[in-house]
Parts: sequence; C-alpha cells; structure tokens
Amino acid sequence: MTLNTEQLIAMDQAHVWHPYASMDNPPPAYPVASAEGVRLTLTDGRQLIDGMASWWCAIHGYNHPYINEAMQAQMSNMSHVMFGGITHEPAVKLAQRLVAMTPAGLDKVFFSDSGSVAVEVAIKMALQYWHACGKPEKNRLITIRNGYHGDTFGAMAVCDPVNGMHSLFTSVLAQHFFCAAPPLGVHRPCATEDLAELKSQLQANHEHIAALILEPIVQGAGGMRFYSPDWLAGAAELCKQFDVLLIADEIATGFGRSGTLFACDRAKVQPDIMCLGKAITGGTISFAATLTSAHIATSISRGEASCFMHGPTFMGNPMACAIANASLDLLEQSDWQSQVANLEKGLEQLLAPAREFSFVEDVRVLGAIGVVQVTEAVDLGRIQAMLVEEGVWVRPFGKLVYVMPPYVMNDEDLAQLCGGMLRALQGYFA
Ligand SMILES: *Cc1c(COP(=O)(O)O)cnc(C)c1O
Repeated sequence: MTLNTEQLIAMDQAHVWHPYASMDNPPPAYPVASAEGVRLTLTDGRQLIDGMASWWCAIHGYNHPYINEAMQAQMSNMSHVMFGGITHEPAVKLAQRLVAMTPAGLDKVFFSDSGSVAVEVAIKMALQYWHACGKPEKNRLITIRNGYHGDTFGAMAVCDPVNGMHSLFTSVLAQHFFCAAPPLGVHRPCATEDLAELKSQLQANHEHIAALILEPIVQGAGGMRFYSPDWLAGAAELCKQFDVLLIADEIATGFGRSGTLFACDRAKVQPDIMCLGKAITGGTISFAATLTSAHIATSISRGEASCFMHGPTFMGNPMACAIANASLDLLEQSDWQSQVANLEKGLEQLLAPAREFSFVEDVRVLGAIGVVQVTEAVDLGRIQAMLVEEGVWVRPFGKLVYVMPPYVMNDEDLAQLCGGMLRALQGYFA
C-alpha cells in the first residue's frame, strides 16, 4: 500500500517525533518523495531547491550515481560485519585517507555511528588519557558559549548552557567550565582581551581540566557564528601552555564547508583530538570518526584499562566506510575549493540586500555558509510554509535563517534559493 500525501502527513503527526519538535499539535512535516542533485521533490510534485544540504551533509548533492554505485557494490559484497577482532578494506582505506587529509599528528582513527557519539568518544579519550598519565583529577572540560556538540549527555554538557537548556538537566549533566564565545568576525585580529577569560580560567583551573572542546572558526547550531583563526591559534597556544588537550569538533566544518578542507587549517592549528561526521559520507548515511595522536592513543592503551573503553555495535560499518571513500573520491576529483569560493561570492552578493531590511540584524557569509540574522525569533511553521511556497528548502531556527547548499549548486539555483529566502522573509515580516 502506498500512502498518499494526506495519509502520510496525518500518520506522521499522530506517531512520529521529529528533531527538536513538539508532539502537541506540531506543524505538518513536508513529505519528500525523492531527492536528486540540489532538488527535493515533495509527494505532491512540488520541487524545492535545497539550501540545507540536509544539515551540512549532502555536499555532492543527492542521489549521486558514483556514491550509489559504491554503495551497491559494497552491499552485494558485505553490508555489515562486526569490528571486534575483524577488519576490512573499506575501513582501512578510509582511516588511511582521513589521517592523510587531516592536520599533522592525528594518526589513530576511532569510527562511530554519529557525530554525538564521536564527541562522546573524544571526551572519553581525553579523560582516559589524563587518568593514564596519573592525573585523574583532570576530568573536566572547558568550552566556549554558543557551542553545539550533539544531543547525548556528554555532548550536551558542553553545548551552550542556555540553548542547551542546562537548567533542565542540571542534576545529571557533568559540570564544566564555560567562557565567552570569541567575538564575531573571521578577519578580526585577536586582541589580548579576547582571550583573557579563557586564559584566566585555564590559569585557575587547569589542574582539573582535561581538554578545551570547541568548533573551530564556525560555531554552527549554537548560533551560526564565525570567529577568527587568530583567536583559535591563541586558544591552541594557551592549551599547550596549561597542559590541556584541544578537541576540535569539525563535524559541521569538515570537508571544505568553510573554505578550507578543515576549519583548523585556516589557523594552522593541530588539535590533539578531532571529531568528524556529517559530510563524511556526503550525506548518504550516518557515520563519524574521532582522530587522535599516537601519543594519546598509546598512553590510553598503557593506562589502567589497557584499552580504550568504547566499541559501538556498528563500529566501522563497511557500507558507511565504502560510501565515505566514494564521497572522498568525489571531493578529491572535484574542484571543491572553487565551488565553495564561488558559493561564498554568490552568497555575499545575493544576501547583501537583506542588510537594508529593517528586520535584519546581521548578514554574514563564510565559505558555503550564508546567514541572515533577524531581530526576533521566527515562527517556524509559518515561515517554513512561506519558504516552501517560494520553492526553497531552508530550515531556520530562532533568529537565524541560513543556508549551506550542496557544493555542486550552480549560479542560477543559488540565485533562486537566495531570492526565495529573502522574499519569504519580507513576506513574513511585512
Ligand atoms: C551536528 C553536530 C554534532 C552532532 O552530530 P549528530 O550526528 O547529530 O549526532 C556535533 N557537533 C557539531 C559541531 C555538529 O554540527
């Protein structure tokens, strides 16, 4: 039995929970029948130009024949096998490639199923490392406000305390140190006072701090904020000075999104631990990785547990690894630097008119990310309908209306996407 559009919507509303959604009379979700290139086709036949890349992921567009082929080839060979005591070519190849492409010093790869888990793994690595070093009291983290690192409890404890509703979970969340987010502006030189709070907190508490965790250069879901490589380099320097590890969460920024392959590259920073996810499979399937140095991996392995205490059931899933390898092939074969630079230029030009709108607070663009910040939080149901009416798929949150299109989007589609987004905003605030 095939469900028609009305049935789909009704049954969805009755039973299916969506991300950060109410189950008390939620606005209807839009049923998608298929996706191809940069377009989503709804079950009622309407086509939408996709501005979200399915939350940073679908960098090559949807339904890519090369990825599909790799997926089918792997599927007909072996879709899954346990990773305990077993290895396989897709995983080995992928690990090798990730080590080669990430900043120097990241040599050991731990695969997992989702970004949040990759962050849990990173936190656990940092704690186990200091335990193995005979400093178990270094068991807390420091982070910057406006961060987002995932929804599981370990990750949630380092998300922005306000956005992450820490007050709701105070009794169960690990208590970490927070300092102000870096000032906005990628080209802003870092002044001494910009790092003062981080420095004084590290000075006071470094004996209890295992790691600084942050999203390099681009803070995503916690505020869509861009900050300077100079600040990041300064923070990395402070970590060294106070013997605190640096965890770079590149789950959103990895694989070219901000204009460099990794956001850390912009600051020439070599983190001790790096989290990857989202675009790692080109948006095809959930997968993630946590990378660290040989020194940290060896230290952990020589500690009390004699091993790293983690092992997801679907760790190193061959399908996901094969798909990730295919996605990396596409990235390497493409001129993604020019694609992202072209999107950056296009977004700058096309979103610029919004600077004149009375209801717009700020417009900012970095790489293939464009953000329009409005003066008041939008009603998601109402604005979503207006965006869909314009033929674009954009999913705002709060005061942020933003796009991060697939890298393969052409000029014409980008113009339609941005035009539709600005018209919807004008209609909404009219
Ligand atoms: C999305 C995201 C996560 C969480 O990844 P999931 O796959 O949703 O668990 C963690 N960190 C950052 C920076 C992210 O953007």
